[in-house]
Amino acid sequence: MTVSTNSIDQPAVDTPTVNRRAIVIGGSLAGLFSGVLLRSIGWQVDIYERSAHELDSRGGGVVLQADVVTAFKRAGIATAALGVDAFERYYLQKDGRIDRMPMRQTLTSWNILYRTMRRHFPDEHYHQGKVLTEVRPGNGTVTAVFADGSDETGDLLIGADGPTSTVRQQLLPAYAPQYAGYVGYRGLVDEADLEPEAAEIFTERFVFYDFPNSHILQYVIPGENESLVPGERRFNWVWYVNYDEQTELPRLLTDKGERQRTYSVPPGMMSAAAEQEMRDYADQVLIAPFQKLVAATKEPFVQSILDLGVPQMAFDRVALIGDAAFIPRPHTAASTAKAAANAIALVEALVDHSHNVPQALADWESDQLALGMNLWQHGRSLGERSQFMCGKGRSRG
Ligand SMILES: Cc1cc2nc3c(=O)[nH]c(=O)nc-3n(C[C@H](O)[C@H](O)[C@H](O)COP(=O)(O)OP(=O)(O)OC[C@H]3O[C@@H](n4cnc5c(N)ncnc54)[C@H](O)[C@@H]3O)c2cc1C
Repeated sequence: MTVSTNSIDQPAVDTPTVNRRAIVIGGSLAGLFSGVLLRSIGWQVDIYERSAHELDSRGGGVVLQADVVTAFKRAGIATAALGVDAFERYYLQKDGRIDRMPMRQTLTSWNILYRTMRRHFPDEHYHQGKVLTEVRPGNGTVTAVFADGSDETGDLLIGADGPTSTVRQQLLPAYAPQYAGYVGYRGLVDEADLEPEAAEIFTERFVFYDFPNSHILQYVIPGENESLVPGERRFNWVWYVNYDEQTELPRLLTDKGERQRTYSVPPGMMSAAAEQEMRDYADQVLIAPFQKLVAATKEPFVQSILDLGVPQMAFDRVALIGDAAFIPRPHTAASTAKAAANAIALVEALVDHSHNVPQALADWESDQLALGMNLWQHGRSLGERSQFMCGKGRSRG
């Protein structure tokens, strides 16, 4: 599918070349990719986000993939200062050996991607504290109904409302995320807060330690203030640990205010007991550099690893995109890129079909289903291989 460069390789401008209106549900990355790209082809776009607060206090690291860079470029957003380069992979061994592999990757942060797109999307069209409750198909239109009683009508509605998607619950009620059998403990450490010997190993490298039924990884990402300057960045780590869904997971997902969370506990909210359990386990099973990294982490957080794949993404004038449709396991490092790819292909289809929404969505869907399904299956096989190998340690429930 080709698109003329005049139509979509231009900066986002408010030129209503096609007097069409999109309603985007969810103001995280998939919603913002859609928003900035639809504006770049002249659509009027309003984003409705459930959270009443800025989302940017919970993000960790993201591997910067080509589709994200493409989406930014097509929306006219500069990409030069998006990430930190790593030049090689280190696979640390228990006996102190290091297996090295040259590989260049750019690592960024969820915060930078979110904030950069937020700055390019007009505040007056980004509505916070708006909870979608219902999608109503109309005659050549679609209407979003919100919990505050208001409603909005447009030509296209994009369900970018993530794992708990209300849009998906209404259109595909049988499909919901399934717990994969393990969690990702996560943490961020300012470069200045890690002792030099460990910092030397981790700096500008993608570093792994694999052991039976688990693995931990680290890469450097921009600082909280988006700085890429050495000394002002952060070490980002993720540690995958198996927890039984019935007997163990509820304890881990109960936060320090005793609230039972659905899928994740954000930084600063883990209960003291759950945090201590993680730190004790790190002292038992990790090797020294990673023990130091976990010990230096002030506010670890945890998220359940989920599986989700849907059989349909286009519903006349409604498109399901990003994590609302497919949640590949994080080992693919592709969730954010998939959200970008969904949005890029959607605007291409709208241009190809002269903005005939149902036709464009029908054309868009098959490649996006294939992309989601492939990533989903690939992620599952990577996860099963690394988390449930026979051996000592936390086996599956
Ligand atoms: C705060 C935050 C931090 C994250 N940090 C990372 C990270 O560090 N690394 C990483 O790889 N991934 C991270 N993710 C997940 C990442 O954004 C996704 O995996 C991926 O980029 C696709 O995003 P998405 O927009 O489809 O889904 P999500 O990012 O889950 O966003 C869905 C959005 O929809 C909103 N929403 C849900 N229901 C409704 C409703 N009924 N009405 C209105 N709005 C609704 C949610 O509040 C949320 O903002 C984070 C997500 C969030 C929300």
